[in-house]
Amino acid sequence: MSSTGADDDRQGGKPAVPDHVQEAIRTLIEWAGDDPAREGLLDTPKRVARAWKEYCTGYLEDPAIHLSRVFEEVGGYDEVVLLRDIPFQSHCEHHMAPITGKAAIAYLPRNRVVGISKLARVLHGFARRLQIQERLTAQVAQCIWDHLEPHGVAVVIEAEHGCMTGRGVRTPGVGMVTSRLLGCFLEDQRSRKEVLSLMGY
Ligand SMILES: [Zn+2]
Repeated sequence: MSSTGADDDRQGGKPAVPDHVQEAIRTLIEWAGDDPAREGLLDTPKRVARAWKEYCTGYLEDPAIHLSRVFEEVGGYDEVVLLRDIPFQSHCEHHMAPITGKAAIAYLPRNRVVGISKLARVLHGFARRLQIQERLTAQVAQCIWDHLEPHGVAVVIEAEHGCMTGRGVRTPGVGMVTSRLLGCFLEDQRSRKEVLSLMGY
């Protein structure tokens, strides 16, 4: 951490926001039709900048790190491991509008499991970036596939897109569903049916 210049701007331990970032947000406020100099908006550029750092913490991590600690003693367990209804938030890379939804993540282990919360951490690591739902779904599945080397992986994501509910066609309540199936869940119809029905699809 540097201790020069910009740090004077720190408020209660919050990170400093460079001037050019604040200026960019003031420009956006003006473009939207408001006056960035009015009282209620004075601190908005800083707040927005810090909020975006938080929305995008995924850039600071490699989500695979959460899968580095595995347990190989699985006591002969060879059935599907499923975490469902995992809420998440992301932002679409086309409008930077919120994507809000839930995910179901399953895998069929091959002698290796991870702590169950780690699957959610992998999801958040990829979600806290600018995304499209299709890629988010694929990245979560591929990460688990590469690092746990299971028999199969299934990821289903259901989400609402702010760019669709709040602008454009303005259709609230419409959910988009994406899925990525790998290994036995892709190749074997019975396994696929089983995992999707466990997920509630
Ligand atoms: Zn969008």
